[in-house]
Amino acid sequence: MYFSLMGYEEDDFLFLKRSKPVAKKEHRCCECGKTIKRAERYILFKGKFKKPLVKDSYFKNFKTCFSCNILYRDYL
Ligand SMILES: [Zn+2]
Repeated sequence: MYFSLMGYEEDDFLFLKRSKPVAKKEHRCCECGKTIKRAERYILFKGKFKKPLVKDSYFKNFKTCFSCNILYRDYL
């Protein structure tokens, strides 16, 4: 199985965890740019990378809307 998230590829991640929190403030979907409104559920990916993105930083969060989540449903 193969996926990419915001240009990062499956091989770049050590692991990727998905959760479905409720938005405490407005967010923007990192894939389609749709606004995620306050109190709406969204998909939060917490990724740990194999190599640091910037110095000593291995973690990055991605927020997407539910429609974009479909792209990754087979992976997680
Ligand atoms: Zn989206």
